[in-house]
Order: sequence, then C-alpha cells, then structure tokens
Amino acid sequence: MNCVQLKSGKEESLKRFHPWVFSGAIARINGNPEEGEVVEIYTSQREFIAKGHWQIGSIAVRVLTFRQDEAIDADFWRRRLQTAYDMRRSIGICQRPDNNTYRLVHGEGDNLPGLVIDIYGRTAVMQAHSAGMHLVRMTIAEALLEVMGHCIDNIYYKSETTLPFKADLYPENGFLKGGSTDNVALEYGLKFHIDWLKGQKTGFFVDQRENRSLLERYAAGRSVLNMFCYTGGFSVYAMRGGATLVHSVDSSAKAIELTNQNVRLNFADDTRHAAYAEDAFKYLDRMGDQYDLIILDPPAFAKHRDALRNALQGYRKLNVKAFEKIKPGGILFTFSCSQAVSKENFRTAVFTAAAMSGRSVRILHQLTQPADHPVSIYHPEGEYLKGLVLYVE
Ligand code: SAH
Repeated sequence: MNCVQLKSGKEESLKRFHPWVFSGAIARINGNPEEGEVVEIYTSQREFIAKGHWQIGSIAVRVLTFRQDEAIDADFWRRRLQTAYDMRRSIGICQRPDNNTYRLVHGEGDNLPGLVIDIYGRTAVMQAHSAGMHLVRMTIAEALLEVMGHCIDNIYYKSETTLPFKADLYPENGFLKGGSTDNVALEYGLKFHIDWLKGQKTGFFVDQRENRSLLERYAAGRSVLNMFCYTGGFSVYAMRGGATLVHSVDSSAKAIELTNQNVRLNFADDTRHAAYAEDAFKYLDRMGDQYDLIILDPPAFAKHRDALRNALQGYRKLNVKAFEKIKPGGILFTFSCSQAVSKENFRTAVFTAAAMSGRSVRILHQLTQPADHPVSIYHPEGEYLKGLVLYVE
C-alpha cells in the first residue's frame, strides 16, 4: 500500500484522533497514490498512525481508521453504516411513524469523512465530498442495502457539485439502486416534496428539523416572516403552530415554487400563506413592521476562513434590519450555517446588530444541529450550525 510520512511533530493531532492530514504536514510520499486511493500514514519515527483516502488539496488524507489491522473492505463499510444506523435507532430518530426524514451518515461525525447520506422515506440520497468516497460508491451502496434493505429500496447518488472537479472524476447524478419517483417524505408529521434531482444539498435541509419544531411552539397568534425559506420548512411548521399569517421569501424562483408546493401539500387552500421571490436585503428594506416572528436562515456566508470578515459583516447587516423592523415583543430566530464562523463570532455579530438597532434583546435559546448530525469530539469543526432565538422588546 502507498504511504505518506509526516514531518516531525505533525502526528500530534492524529494522536488525538483528528481525522485530517493537511498537505503541509507531509514530509514524503512513498509510491504514487492515485486520488481516492487508501494510503497509510506514518510518523517521522516510521510508526503507523492511521490510514485513509488520499486526495490532492489542502486536506491530503481523510482518515478512515486508526487501526493498522482494520482492512478497508466491504465489511468495513457495512460495519460503519451499521454503527451509524444503530446510533440513530437507539436515540429514537429512525422508525418513528411520524418521521422518515433524517441524516444517516454525517461525514466525520460518523467516522466517515467525505460521505453524507440522508434518508427520505424509502430513498437514500448519498453524497460524496471526496474522491475516495466517490470511487467506492457502489460498495457503499451494497453495504447500505445490507444494513437498511428492510426500510429503503432506492439509492440516489448526488455528487456532481460536491467533488473536486480537478480530480477528473466526472460524477453523474443518478440512481445506484432502484429508481422511485415518489419523493414525498414525512418530517414530524408534515409532508415535504424532496427535490433530490435538482435541489440544493441532498434536496432538503434535514439539519433544521428540531429548530423548526421549536419554532412551531412559538408560532401561535403571531405573524411570521420566513426569510431564506428554500423548501418552506419553517413556514409549514409555523402554519401548523397557528401563525396568523406566514410570508416566505427567497431569491430563487425555484425555491418559491417548492415552498408553495409544500404549503399546498399540507394546508391546501389556506390563505394565511404567501411567498415572494425577492432578494432578502431588498425585502427587509421595503417591508413594514408587521411581523411578530422573523426567521433568518441564510446560506453559508463564509465557505472558507478568508471570507470570515465579510461574512460577519453580512450577518450583522442582515440582523440589524430584522431588529429594526420586528414588532415589540417579537421573536427572532437567526442562524448561521458557515463552518468558518464560530459560535462566538456569530453571537458577536448578532450582539453588534442588536446594539446598532438600540433594541433591548434577550437570548431565549441557543441552537445547533440535531443529533443525527453528530459532532465527533475529536473534530470540533463538525459543529457548523448555530442559531439564536431572541426576544426583542
Ligand atoms: N431555511 C431553509 C434553508 C435555507 S438555504 C430550510 O429550512 O430549508 C438558503 C436559501 O437562501 C436558499 O434557498 C437560497 O436560494 C436563498 N438565498 C440566497 N441568497 C439570497 C438572497 N440574497 N436573498 C434571498 N434568498 C437568498
């Protein structure tokens, strides 16, 4: 097997089970590994420390195992998927009669860096973020059917936009198994059309489930603005929670179409809802002060650390507008899903926005991603979703 040897001292993070090797930590490469191949990692003292998928880029190896005697074969994938499934079953996320939408594999959080699998009813949507996971996609699909064949029939592969294009992998989206067109999934009793063919991510933002559910409890009697609505997840929960009116806004016309479709699916002919395709900043500027509850769930403003300053400015500007317009006694649900923005960074941006608006603001809840998006304690970077629920006097 090809192997890489680390520079002296660069094994420290691996000794603490952090699952990445950065290219700058490598002293030499023995052999000529192809992208996506499994390589062994050795310390400068020539001791084995881990093995994982090789890739050209800043993260050179994504660790699959710290055990030299653990082969990366079909049984390895089956065991890892079984562990992921058993964990979710043991905490009550799978097999609920009112919910068949959840994340089965969350990359590093499930010791499977580079792999995401979301379950929508009887369909699994699989996404590779590394060349290594792309190359073994069929083996993973087989393993997935072994573990979950009793509850899924279809596996859709959706990696056209998530793989490094320089690796010349030419991934094609399509079914690896089955081929269902039944794309209605259930989340806590609400129905959603999941657009795995063209939608963002795997077709739905599964990570907001618990936060949407919390919002439902605040919706009664309130007028709601769901900004950056995408598929209308928060809107549908607000309606079930008894909101007096719900306005959904997204700059994408396709998102507005999906939102309207999902609202109709659950609340046909309900006149409380309206959706607008418009830029968030423009809408917030021109709207009045009619909303008691505002949700701000923008796309990641910072995809990389270099973009951090601009991102924080973006969060500040956005939140100021909401603070200025929300009704007295209003509730603001505000989020950041940028991995590069820490909880403290985000809180500071929102704090600054509150101060600029001069409103009195209290934190009611501090939110994060749900348990089916676990964070490996050795990989704190896995914690990406941050949210605050605020009471604005
Ligand atoms: N809240 C959603 C997920 C939001 S994803 C959910 O629970 O599923 C972010 C959304 O922001 C995308 O749908 C994207 O189209 C939209 N968006 C991006 N830039 C925008 C802008 N400037 N104004 C309004 N919407 C925007």
